[in-house]
Amino acid sequence: LVAFVMFLFFLVLPLGQAVHAYTQLQSGLGALARIEEILAVPGEGADDRPAPVTARPVATGPAAVEFDRVGFGYPGGPPVLHEVSFTVPAGTRTALVGPSGAGKSTLLALVERFYEVTGGTLRLDGVDVRDLPRDALRARLGYVEQEAPVLAGTLRDNLLITAPDATDDRLRAVLDEVNLGHLAERTADGLDVQVGEGGVLLSGGERQRLAIARALLAGPPVLLLDEPTSNLDARNEAALRRAIDAVAVRRTLLIVAHRLSTVVDADQIVVLDGGRVVATGTHDELTSTSPLYRELATHQLLVG
Ligand code: ATP
Repeated sequence: LVAFVMFLFFLVLPLGQAVHAYTQLQSGLGALARIEEILAVPGEGADDRPAPVTARPVATGPAAVEFDRVGFGYPGGPPVLHEVSFTVPAGTRTALVGPSGAGKSTLLALVERFYEVTGGTLRLDGVDVRDLPRDALRARLGYVEQEAPVLAGTLRDNLLITAPDATDDRLRAVLDEVNLGHLAERTADGLDVQVGEGGVLLSGGERQRLAIARALLAGPPVLLLDEPTSNLDARNEAALRRAIDAVAVRRTLLIVAHRLSTVVDADQIVVLDGGRVVATGTHDELTSTSPLYRELATHQLLVG
């Protein structure tokens, strides 16, 4: 359809206008994609099949996430994950660490079913995610990506997208929880302050905390969080840690971690290298058992 519309642009409009119209269309599609990401709306796809009648419904409390000998390669590319096995027990926190390209972000993408595993099985509360319709799966998941999108619009718009009925008091309480209360106090507009394009520009740390606020409002039982690699100053790092603590309450958390302060409190740390799990344990355990973990931890910043 996009190709057809582009063809029409170039057929009926002078080149300059056609390029402009095409750019507009692209940015419109980009915005739509971002909204879909935020809402985790399932795209149309052959794998959006209804759940088989045999699939048992997933319970509503925190859910366990289980990687069982998971293998994966991006379409047309080499394998990037090999026999990855570990479980995130319901209501606990697991941090993924490892060098750049180890496959950390890819694991989160597989839970969201942005891609399908090519080997092994990925389960949510014991149910193969391929047996869950994507909207049912994503209703249970919150996904906070590294470069969290901010919609052009007001602070309120950015929050209500995951909780249209939330009251102002609730929005302010959540903003306080993620240390963003100051945004609503910065101008007389309060929650109606413009953010993003054409408004108050947010730092990388603030953008991610805004995404965490959206996740808190949506209240998914499982949260997938891709921590930013960028350096955060001490204040922002502490604010991020408090936001993660807030979101961790009664929730299953799988975090791609790039800083030591995030992993030390994890119930479990999974060390990945070259698409394989090379060690699993707590910070104290891994400090004595995993040379790679020791090396990463020594640099304080677990930059992937
Ligand atoms: P980083 O910490 O640098 O983000 P990572 O451990 O999260 O690294 P991934 O981003 O999961 O690693 O990447 C794992 C491998 O998959 C890498 O070799 C990467 O080049 C490749 N890869 C990642 N995304 C894609 C993609 N969309 N298409 C093709 N290959 C990809």
